[in-house]
Amino acid sequence: MALAELEPLNTDEEYRLLIGGEWVAPGAGTYEIVDPNTARVVGHAPEASMAQVADAAAAAKAALPGWRDTPMAERCALLGRAANLIDERIGGLTGLVQGETGATINITEAVQLPACGERFRQYEIPVDLDESMTPYPVEANPLGPAGLAGAHVIRQPVGVVACITSYNFPLVNVSGKAAPALAMGNTVVIKPAPQDPLAMIKVMEIIEEAGFPPGVVNIITGSGAAAGAGLVTSPDVNMVSFTGSSAVGVKIMEAGSATMKRLLMELGGKGACILTDDCDVDAAIGAIASVWGLHSGQICTAPTRVIVHRSRYDELVDKLTAVAGMLKVGDALDRETIVGPVITETHRNRVEHFIASGVADGATLQCGGGRPDLPGYFVEPTLLVDCEPDMRVVQHEIFGPVVAVLAHDGDDHAVELANDSDYGLFSYVFAGSTARAFEVGRRIESGNVGLNSLAPHVHAPFGGFKMSGVGRDRGVFGLHAYSEIQALSWLAK
Ligand code: NAD
Repeated sequence: MALAELEPLNTDEEYRLLIGGEWVAPGAGTYEIVDPNTARVVGHAPEASMAQVADAAAAAKAALPGWRDTPMAERCALLGRAANLIDERIGGLTGLVQGETGATINITEAVQLPACGERFRQYEIPVDLDESMTPYPVEANPLGPAGLAGAHVIRQPVGVVACITSYNFPLVNVSGKAAPALAMGNTVVIKPAPQDPLAMIKVMEIIEEAGFPPGVVNIITGSGAAAGAGLVTSPDVNMVSFTGSSAVGVKIMEAGSATMKRLLMELGGKGACILTDDCDVDAAIGAIASVWGLHSGQICTAPTRVIVHRSRYDELVDKLTAVAGMLKVGDALDRETIVGPVITETHRNRVEHFIASGVADGATLQCGGGRPDLPGYFVEPTLLVDCEPDMRVVQHEIFGPVVAVLAHDGDDHAVELANDSDYGLFSYVFAGSTARAFEVGRRIESGNVGLNSLAPHVHAPFGGFKMSGVGRDRGVFGLHAYSEIQALSWLAK
């Protein structure tokens, strides 16, 4: 066992909230953060009072005019400076990120940490989003004289953006929202997930040091729904950028409607993974195994719903079973561990409940399903086969290391099965050629489709169809998402 050597965590460290440029003590005490790998307490997070939630929104509102009027080049330069500082210091947060997320040390170092600075760096260069409309002559009419009509279309910041995020990749989820929002001239109130907010508070110290004016970036934390819900109904907040479950997304849409919140909703997924009759099964296996090995399936884009041509079914199941047996489940600090814990005991119970529902609904438990004898919240890599479209394990997002396999009889049938879902975030096609994968992929109701690959393009728009969300982010699409469109029009003589 090659255990990573990390600095011991100071579990008594006092974490604070950043509101209007001041680091303040929490108004409602603290709550425990538990390491999913060991079930031990790794720290105590601030519990913001509702008055502090309101203060944070008000501080962001007060800072808005100055930040909005700062040239985009200056705003982006600050994001670049923040990216540099994050890249320099993020390594010092390895133990904290690993400890509060429970991610394996390999996933912590390869995915959780580096993507934080990268998301800021993506917006270090200003982009000209203005557009001029083609002028056209207007004849004299009752509304005015003749002339040449022109218009210039510009992007304005939306205002105060509440960034409310999920627990799975705490730093990546927040930086992916804050960076484009800030580049566009919005101010932000960050509300990370209750389970693992500590490293994000530390990253905020780094971001603040980059030189953002007071109130431009604020962070509040809390153990339940109240802090986020307070932002959603705050009249000082103009937009909610949310990453989380579809169920909470629906609540936010309802609660935000009274104040007409602009919404960016990045919600749940149940990724279809179609394998055609001529596909390279081995290539697909590597992708599907990521459901087990990439943060124990706690990733919205995971290819959890495998739809394989009947002629390749046995080959796929045999090979997946063999791979599942080879993945080491164990201490997240062991560099040989592939499958670490899920985030909480409650979530493990939920995952186990889904596995039992699969068996009750008639699926075959091909492998896994058990609870390893370890102190944390582990679930064995699980493969359910002989699945049917209406089973709960096929229709619901499990967010754990569980793969469900269905058979199809041809491309049309595969597409029909893929689209028989409330979700449509990220799906995949593995086919004998990219051209065939392209033709199948374009028919899937999904915001993103990976063709013979799991890898997304970092600048491509990201977001969901159906219950998987509203809006798109990443690259220039992220700037669009955090802006209002304004048309300035005139009639020249
Ligand atoms: P969750 O919906 O339980 O919580 C997400 C956030 O919402 C947390 O910060 C939580 O405190 C807050 N919240 C809860 N109730 C609220 C309310 N009434 N008003 C305002 N805020 C509220 O999600 P989770 O368990 O943290 O994360 C898992 C989910 O996130 C999965 O469904 C996963 O697919 C989704 N996810 C989606 C993406 C994406 O980009 N589409 C990325 C990562 C995770």
